[in-house]
Amino acid sequence: MSGVVDRPSPNFDGRDGAPVSILMIHYTGMLSGVAALERLCDPAAKVSAHYLIEEDGTVFRLVDEAMRAWHAGLGAWRGFERVNHRSIGIELVNPGHEWGYRPFPRPQMVALAALGRDIVARHAIAPFDVIGHSDSAPSRKTDPGEFFDWRWLAEQGVGAWVGGADPVADGRLGFGESGLLVSRLQADLAAFGYALRVDGKFGPETRDVVTAFQRHWRQSSVDGIADAETRGRLARLLRSLTETARA
Ligand SMILES: [Zn+2]
Repeated sequence: MSGVVDRPSPNFDGRDGAPVSILMIHYTGMLSGVAALERLCDPAAKVSAHYLIEEDGTVFRLVDEAMRAWHAGLGAWRGFERVNHRSIGIELVNPGHEWGYRPFPRPQMVALAALGRDIVARHAIAPFDVIGHSDSAPSRKTDPGEFFDWRWLAEQGVGAWVGGADPVADGRLGFGESGLLVSRLQADLAAFGYALRVDGKFGPETRDVVTAFQRHWRQSSVDGIADAETRGRLARLLRSLTETARA
C-alpha cells in the first residue's frame, strides 16, 4: 500500500500463532480523528487498531498486521472468542451514534476499499468474515452502523453482499416470543456466524443479534424484530454462505 502514514501504537502483543481470518470494520466514535489517534496510541487506554482511516482518505498504520491489536474486546464470530487474535481491525473516523453519526465520505470508503482488497488477498479472508464490530459484540457495539455501505464495499471486492430474500411463510418474530420458530431463527443466526444460544426464547440477546444483523444486512429498518424480510434475507445469506464454503 502506498500513501500509508506510519503512526506506531504501543498497544499490541502477539497473536499466539493464530491465523488471521477476520477483517473487522469499526468507527472511532470520537469527535475528531486527531483525538482518536491519540487515544489509540495512548498506553493508558490499552486500545488500538491496525489502521485508522480519516474522512479525507488518509490511512494511518498503527500496528503491524503480524501483531495483535486491541480493538474487538469481548465478543465472538464463527465460534472464535479470541477475536483480536484472529482479526485485522480498521477504524474509520466518524463521530458515531453518540456524537453525531454521519455517512462515510467517498474518499474514506475508496481508501478503505484499496486497503481492504490488499488485506483480504494477502490473508485469504473469506468474504463472509469481513464484519463489523457490532457483528461480534451485538449487545455492546453499534459500529460501523447502518450508514456503512457494505454493498458498495463488496462491489469493490471486499466482503460479501447478497441482495434479496428467500420467501418465509411464518411472518415476524419479536421480543418475548418463544418456541420452535425462535429456536430455528437462533440456530440460523448462529450458523451464519453470530454468537447466540439456541434456547427458543426471544430475549434481549436474540433481539441484540437481530439488530446487529439488520445493521449489516437490512439497513432500511433496524428495529430488532425478525420480520419476514429479515428472516428471508438471513435464509438467502445462509444459502450463499453454504455455496461459498462448498465452492
Ligand atoms: Zn469498534
